[in-house]
Amino acid sequence: MSRVYNFSAGPAMLPVEVLKEAASEMLDYQGSGMSVMEMSHRSQVFQNIIDEAEADLRDLLNIPDNYKVLFLQGGASQQFAAVPMNLMKNGVADYIVTGQWSKKAAQEAEKYGKVNVIASSADKTFSYIPDCSDLPIDDDADYVYICENNTIYGTKYKELPNTKGKTLVADVSSCFLSEPHDVEKYGVLYGGVQKNIGPAGVVIAIIREDLIRDDVLPGTPTMLKYKTQADKGSLYNTPPCYGIYICGKVFKWLKKQGGLAAMKEHNEKKAKILYDYLDQSKMFKGTVVPKDRSLMNVPFVIGDKDLEAKFVKEADAAGFVNLKGHRTVGGMRASIYNAMPIEGVEALVEFMKKFEKENA
Ligand code: PMP
Repeated sequence: MSRVYNFSAGPAMLPVEVLKEAASEMLDYQGSGMSVMEMSHRSQVFQNIIDEAEADLRDLLNIPDNYKVLFLQGGASQQFAAVPMNLMKNGVADYIVTGQWSKKAAQEAEKYGKVNVIASSADKTFSYIPDCSDLPIDDDADYVYICENNTIYGTKYKELPNTKGKTLVADVSSCFLSEPHDVEKYGVLYGGVQKNIGPAGVVIAIIREDLIRDDVLPGTPTMLKYKTQADKGSLYNTPPCYGIYICGKVFKWLKKQGGLAAMKEHNEKKAKILYDYLDQSKMFKGTVVPKDRSLMNVPFVIGDKDLEAKFVKEADAAGFVNLKGHRTVGGMRASIYNAMPIEGVEALVEFMKKFEKENA
């Protein structure tokens, strides 16, 4: 078996321990005589899996009792619609646009109400996070929306916006469980799990109970109404059972690593190795303002398309895969989520040094 260092933005690397454990349980999950893929979602065995996953996640994030945890489907993209449908009571929301994902979320929300873009970093290709200390929040805004870590551009809010008392909604897809999140500061935080937590197909939404209501926008599909899912413990219909099972294993793995504070320390150490190298390299340059750099997604460029293509090709051949930047940005991007070991980042930097020397 030979595993590569996979720098994909998602779906991304999962901990080897988790994969091995899942493999060992594939044919017979704990004496049930079947895999979790083959099991009824109404069985006690699966109920235990989802209950344990939720309990471990609550533990990891210190989720207060007045927040519900929902395991949903439809990708993070489906939440772009579900959020306004469930939350736009006054029909107004404020969006901060710091990249493609928040832009898409704002565009989707426009179908359901009035959207104010109250700040944006589009003027400098989303290479920074705007000052959010004193924004023109609409008095009628039902919520203020952010994408907390911008997967494509590699920026991250180091401080949450001052929402002046309004509900904060955050897409945390690409920084989920990479560090502690202070759940009480959010009305809703949600993310697709395919970067830091599990296989694609599961979205986890953590929602303050008072935001889970019956009076959603008229026409809201039953499946998109948070109350439908909350009332049924994420089992209104068949959930993504296998994905939830893997998420549960990753929660246990995170607890074994020392929890989210330990993960943050580990992720800071990892990212520093790469950023330190980028800051002194004469060939490679990071694209983000240092204070807003993401710990998870590190975009960088050479500024010469042919050399960039050569780098990506040679890196791939050397076992550092998926380093090509997003098609809208070009260059390279190394996504270094929780499961990327420190050795992977160290080895990448050694490879970059060698490439720089050979191509100077
Ligand atoms: N938000 C963010 C921050 C993302 O990175 C992505 C996907 N890369 C999405 C939303 C969309 O997620 P999905 O493909 O699960 O709909």
